[in-house]
Amino acid sequence: MKVKRVKDNTFCIDTGMTYIPFYKISDKEIIMLDTGWAEGERKGIDGILQENGFKVKGIICTHAHIDHVGNNSYLKEKYGCVIAMPAYEGLICSSAINLKLYYNSQTLSEVKEHFGSMICKTDILILNDEDRINVGGIEFKLIHTPGHSPAHMCIVTPDNVAYLGDALISYEVMKGAKMPYAYILTEDLKSKKKLYDLSCSKYIVAHKGIFDDITKLITDNIHFYRNRARKIYNAIEDSMTMENIMNAVIKEFTLHVNSKYKYAIMKKMLESYVEYLNETGAIKLNIDSGFLKYSKVHSPD
Ligand SMILES: [Zn+2]
Repeated sequence: MKVKRVKDNTFCIDTGMTYIPFYKISDKEIIMLDTGWAEGERKGIDGILQENGFKVKGIICTHAHIDHVGNNSYLKEKYGCVIAMPAYEGLICSSAINLKLYYNSQTLSEVKEHFGSMICKTDILILNDEDRINVGGIEFKLIHTPGHSPAHMCIVTPDNVAYLGDALISYEVMKGAKMPYAYILTEDLKSKKKLYDLSCSKYIVAHKGIFDDITKLITDNIHFYRNRARKIYNAIEDSMTMENIMNAVIKEFTLHVNSKYKYAIMKKMLESYVEYLNETGAIKLNIDSGFLKYSKVHSPD
């Protein structure tokens, strides 16, 4: 892992797979924007903070995914820092039972085992109509971009650097991603379009890139997600249950689903595309002899 300067007081930790931005309040005090993944990144992040003698004064999170909030509790305990997050995401992370609301296909014990590192106490719950937040005496602008997760937001530092979290993915990720995640794809696509209006000096994409201009990246992201939905539409034959579609998609995308846990994650990813196709009228849902079955209506836009 290494530290990269993005602009003025805005930096990021390059963990290899992710950029975790931070804003320097002073030589030794920082505000982190997201905290990374516990299992694979805690040791490295800890090392970077120690090497530089940084004290974490505050944490602002874009959304409650395990690779973005995984070290919240750990860092809060270590540095006594405040945590700010969109209210809904903060409440999801407030207990294992609340996390189960989000990961509802897994048992409570499985949720604790797989997502326990997400549990944390959020001090500042950010509401959907708040467009600014003050943490550690520094004001950050907020852009609400729901869709990838229920209350995902982007954060703009005082250096006019926008941290986009997972609102966009980089070209490198597009090359490798078979079925990138969106909680509600219709909303996610709207949020991506909203990003055309930004005029920041730099843009940080969590997985992973720093851009001067994101116009083309937004357009390419929208096409990429829509193409994935079309590919899933093409895998549907006649009328199929969700299980049938899952099976067809596993073959079509050559997904390696070798555990119950992986199956649950993949199913959650697939469901958002199926829901998108349903919501946009490309497929419809019927009851057939007690089974819920999806069938095609027309090709997606
Ligand atoms: Zn995410």
